[in-house]
Amino acid sequence: MSILNNDFLALTLANQDGIVPFQFSFPSGVGFIEDAGILRLEPKQSSATSLVLSVGVHGNETGPIELVNQMVTAILNGTISLKIRLLVLIGNPVAANLAKRFCDVNLNRLFNGAWQEYDGFEAQRAQRLEQAVSDFYSIAENKADQMKLHYDLHTAIRGSVHEKFVVYPYVENGIYNKEQLAFLAASGIDAVLLSHQPTTTFSYYSYAVHGAHAFTVELGKVYPFGENDLSRFADLKKSLTLLLEKGTLAQSSLDSLQIFRVLDSLVKDDDSYELSIANDVKNFTQFEAGYCMTHSDKSDYYIKQTGDAIVFPNTNLPIGQRAGLIVRPTIIGDLEFD
Ligand code: ZN
Repeated sequence: MSILNNDFLALTLANQDGIVPFQFSFPSGVGFIEDAGILRLEPKQSSATSLVLSVGVHGNETGPIELVNQMVTAILNGTISLKIRLLVLIGNPVAANLAKRFCDVNLNRLFNGAWQEYDGFEAQRAQRLEQAVSDFYSIAENKADQMKLHYDLHTAIRGSVHEKFVVYPYVENGIYNKEQLAFLAASGIDAVLLSHQPTTTFSYYSYAVHGAHAFTVELGKVYPFGENDLSRFADLKKSLTLLLEKGTLAQSSLDSLQIFRVLDSLVKDDDSYELSIANDVKNFTQFEAGYCMTHSDKSDYYIKQTGDAIVFPNTNLPIGQRAGLIVRPTIIGDLEFD
């Protein structure tokens, strides 16, 4: 068995509901199709680095899917020689086939066991993806000194003042990893959002449950399959290629990174809930102190300090879910590193 045309994306979209697992070889290692959209690649020589690349957790975020699929093809046809362990996940192939963000529930709210409270395709899928990550890290040969990495690649619904940014999972002790931030800077990331609380996202799961260096990576705006300009991801592609081929994390100065701390989560508390911003307001748009950001029959949210900004605003969701984040700029010198 092999993957037709080395095209993992086409295989996944043609088998969205499941596939009989199979094993195959490629020039620098052995591959395992474990399920629909779940591909594990093991290099010939054992490696202490285990990288998870997930894409399409939101089905319509096609740019990262195409980028990673290209890299998989390059590994399978021998253009890239794989030196590290790699798990590639296409998160939501059913929604991808429908060109939709999700079918029943936002998949990236269902991790860390939150899937247990829901029914439907996404709930099953979150459980399956957690299992795939768990299996991947647990069967590593060099478990003791394993470097666990997980980059969950997304594109955003709206434009952004900082085109490419990452969400750094909530770190209880407030100590951050400099090597990872320097890698993200080298990968073309402009800004870092430091989370203020545990969440049910995929990257938080890998961090909290497996101790991985894990990030939600936002790479710009959503476009349909075939309409993405992949040259916009050139820096990321270059640093990922270096990581795949040499096991090395590219490093750039942290000076280019804008750092923000999450101050508050905006939660939709009523059907009357609305955000007082235009539909095309970009992520990281800043506001004046006292500006009434949200209003409902139950609550109001006023901007606390001039310069506080909004990220991920969205009210088209059920009551109880996150309608946005309020973030505040901070400086890199204020962060503590390990
Ligand atoms: Zn997304």
